[in-house]
Amino acid sequence: MYYRKNILFLSCTFGGFIEGVVTKIESKDYYVRADKKIIRCNLPGRFQKEFNLKKDKLYTLDIAVVGDKVNFEMNKDNTGTINNIAGRVNYISRKAPRMKGAGERGERLEQTLAANIDEVYIIASAINPSFNNRFIDRLIVAGESAYINVNVVINKMDLAPEEDVQYFKNIYSKLGYNVYITSIYRSESIDRLRNNVIGKKSLFFGQSGVGKSSILNGLFPTLDLKTGDVSLSTNKGKHTTVTSIMHGVGDNTFVIDTPGIREFDPYGVKKEDLGRYFKEFPEYINDCKFNNCTHFHEPGCAVRKAVETGKITSERYKSYLNILETIEEGLFF
Ligand code: GDP
Ligand code: ZN
Repeated sequence: MYYRKNILFLSCTFGGFIEGVVTKIESKDYYVRADKKIIRCNLPGRFQKEFNLKKDKLYTLDIAVVGDKVNFEMNKDNTGTINNIAGRVNYISRKAPRMKGAGERGERLEQTLAANIDEVYIIASAINPSFNNRFIDRLIVAGESAYINVNVVINKMDLAPEEDVQYFKNIYSKLGYNVYITSIYRSESIDRLRNNVIGKKSLFFGQSGVGKSSILNGLFPTLDLKTGDVSLSTNKGKHTTVTSIMHGVGDNTFVIDTPGIREFDPYGVKKEDLGRYFKEFPEYINDCKFNNCTHFHEPGCAVRKAVETGKITSERYKSYLNILETIEEGLFF
């Protein structure tokens, strides 16, 4: 053990690389976790150039993101300098909000929220705020198109009628998604969730007020995140850059919190592909008359027929149309 520590020490001193994971980004500071310590690192300007060249016409805001594996070297002042960003296993991105992403002709940029994720949890509440399946479905599309396992959490079960909660649950459990019904006042419901989170890197999404922070605190009390319903009013109108934050909460267990997500437009999904990310659509898609059918107005659409006969729920189809519309409006390239 002592011997191994020495090797790490030597490699730091003589300019070797240290491996780490980006946990937080604040303006130009990248906080990198390595060997259970957090080192504040900078990212040399050359990365910006290389990235732009590689991506060519793809507009991307983020060079290194939370969850990225990096190599860095220690500087004399105990900060680090990143010198390599490893390729990503996967990543979740969205169209950047307008104020940040508006290019000269109104192009929307890609904002990458996190990389190298094992599981995505979408937190919704059954009531207060009311259940919002549009938001869930947008995130499901982002998760499915990134090939990341998606889980749905329906919180505040203590406040809503049982039959409502079951109805919401069925929409997603019938499709094969893991659905957790929770209340921060029912500890066994939080325990069930924790069992699936342990040992993995999980990304948590939720609209303001659904109880995401309360659930994270319930899962891992050491997090001690701020809760309450004030976040909505304090964030409004402020041009703050809110990025994800990764917390280490035990051996090989990490939760990535995404604060302040109020809107979510999946990025880079083409309208003719959107149906593939709605799990129940593909079995009908092959029967559509046109093979580039967008399942909206085309004659002979088997997806629309499945909606009419109740095989696809109208909630999910409405979400689909809602996203389809934003794809048509939003993509200029
Ligand atoms: P966030 O914005 O999603 O992080 O939500 P918070 O965790 O800050 O919670 C918003 C409000 O909902 C707070 O007043 C919480 O106490 C409350 N809350 C969170 N979860 C539950 C729950 O399961 N049941 C009830 N009754 N209230 C909850
Ligand atoms: Zn169709």
